[in-house]
Amino acid sequence: MDKPLEQLRTTLKKHRQSLTGARLAVFKALENKEPQTMREIVAACAGKADRASVYRTVALFERLGIAQRLQIGWKYKLELSDAFHRHHHHLTCLSCGRTFPLPEDRQLEAGLHSLSRAQGFLMKDHQLEIQGLCKDCI
Ligand SMILES: [Zn+2]
Ligand SMILES: [Zn+2]
Repeated sequence: MDKPLEQLRTTLKKHRQSLTGARLAVFKALENKEPQTMREIVAACAGKADRASVYRTVALFERLGIAQRLQIGWKYKLELSDAFHRHHHHLTCLSCGRTFPLPEDRQLEAGLHSLSRAQGFLMKDHQLEIQGLCKDCI
């Protein structure tokens, strides 16, 4: 079994949950992908999990810290949490709705840490969403 899957199984086990077919399907729908909408996740799981179990699974994943929600205006998308993939930020296009990864930048990360520290705040986590127009929509 590959590493992320093993980590998924371990996380579920810690909370006395098992790796069901629906959970595996939702995980695969999110793995190595840019943030997905619920509609996209439901479509990717077609034949493996019905809509209701996709919603239940996503709620469980959010509760257990396996997946996280990105709020984009009044909508949201889901992605695996930083524990399962490399930390990065996102660019979201306000016109076509696509989300692109912004590669991790050490200077930016260090800057966010020191800005927080200057407020006497110890940063543990953050999300950074940049909204605008992609090159196809400008
Ligand atoms: Zn666009
Ligand atoms: Zn960051």
